[in-house]
Amino acid sequence: MAKMKKCATCGADIASSAKACPKCGAKNKKPIYLRGWFILIVIIAIAGIVIGISKNIGASEIRFESGKSFTANELKKIGNDTAYIGAPCTVIMTVKEVNSLFEMITSKDGVEIRYDYANNRVKIQTLALDKGDVIEVKGRLHSIGTWQIGVDEITSIRELS
Ligand SMILES: [Zn+2]
Repeated sequence: MAKMKKCATCGADIASSAKACPKCGAKNKKPIYLRGWFILIVIIAIAGIVIGISKNIGASEIRFESGKSFTANELKKIGNDTAYIGAPCTVIMTVKEVNSLFEMITSKDGVEIRYDYANNRVKIQTLALDKGDVIEVKGRLHSIGTWQIGVDEITSIRELS
C-alpha cells in the first residue's frame, strides 16, 4: 500500500506520491522545509554565518577618543589618507608574535605594535606575552597600509586574558 498522508486542505487521506488530492483537488505539495531549494538556501545561509563568525574571532579592534572604533581590516580599507593617522587610540588584539628583534607585537590581522618607546621594552619582558594572549594597548596610530596597521608611542599595555 502506498504511503499515506493527510491532505493539507481538506484533511482526506491521500497517497504521499499523489499530485493532487482526489477529494478536493488541492495540489499535494511537499512542505516548504522539505523542498530542495529551501534546504539549499538554509545550508548556504548557515555556512555564511559560520564563515562570518570565524572571520571575526580574534579580529583586532582599534578605538579612537571620538568613540569611533574599527576592526583592523576596516581601517586597511580606509587607507592611510585619513584623519586618524597620528590619533591616540586603544587597540584590543590577540597576540600572534612578539618580535624582540624589531621590538614589535603583531596580530593575525596585521596590527603591529611598535614598542621601542619609553620603558616598554622592560614592560614587554615582564608581561611575557605568548601567542593567543589578548592585550589592550594604548598608543598612537602611526600608519595604515594595505596589509598592516602600525601603532607606536605606546603609553600602556596590559594583558586582558
Ligand atoms: Zn483534499
